[in-house]
Amino acid sequence: MPLGRRTHWLRRHFSFRPRKSLGQNFLVDAEAAHRIVQAAEQFHPQRVVEVGGGLGALTVPLAGRPWEIITFETDRQLCDILGWLVSDIAHIEIRQADFLEASLAPLGGANSIVVGNLPYYITSPILEKVFQARPRFAGMVITVQQEVGQRLQAKPGTKQYGSLTIFCRYYVAKIETLATLPPTAFWPPPQVNSQVLCMTLREAAPEGVASESAFFTVVHSAFAYRRKTLRNSLQTSPQLKLSIPQIDAALTEAGIDGSRRGETLDFGEFVALANAVYHLSEAT
Ligand code: SAM
Repeated sequence: MPLGRRTHWLRRHFSFRPRKSLGQNFLVDAEAAHRIVQAAEQFHPQRVVEVGGGLGALTVPLAGRPWEIITFETDRQLCDILGWLVSDIAHIEIRQADFLEASLAPLGGANSIVVGNLPYYITSPILEKVFQARPRFAGMVITVQQEVGQRLQAKPGTKQYGSLTIFCRYYVAKIETLATLPPTAFWPPPQVNSQVLCMTLREAAPEGVASESAFFTVVHSAFAYRRKTLRNSLQTSPQLKLSIPQIDAALTEAGIDGSRRGETLDFGEFVALANAVYHLSEAT
């Protein structure tokens, strides 16, 4: 049965009503589901962790592959429906649980990936959790709100460029947009366009970063006051607690003009500046 028809059959058969508060917009575009599963295959994973199984738009085709699947779904009724849909498949586990509360330590690793049409209301915490999971996941194939997809891939100096962009660059080696989906690709349709992203995660921290915490402190300080110059932003930052001569010394060591705005710095410049700040704080 085509995906759209199956979705509506399921909702009628199980008297299911979608909950906006849980980000329940179900994929009805079979071509998009196919592309997501195909992209997952590129990683040759042994384990796929799915976030938000819903009415099975991805769970069912994912279950047709030989890998182990762990599907998280917080809605009990959807878990029952998913269980019914894949009842004859042994290598899938449906967990009725909040993904954000789950322990990923037993699930990550070089042979594991995360797949999902994400519930948009918790996109950032999901990314944070997966990026920072140890052992590291190899990749992610996810659908996000288009605006978030643009922020994740933004270029310096653009409106979309921000700490989320740098956060993504820190953990992601490669990011690709596989498709842009209109609201009609989902039922009920969300109010926004969506993007399907394929991300290869880094196997280790990016080279040359002396201190992860100094790096993110500098990044957040630089973007906290977008209208200020970089020098003023760093000076105002409550986390940095640096004097003006120290800030000037760090900027000079990094070879960055303090009259620029934070959002014009590329990733390498943030690394240089954060390292200079870190070395200063170590020296004092
Ligand atoms: N994968 C399905 C699809 O493609 O149609 C559903 C996608 S829907 C955008 C997101 C799903 O995530 C919903 O089924 C929702 O109930 C579930 N969800 C929401 N919050 C969750 C959470 N914290 N943990 C696990 N699942 C969650």
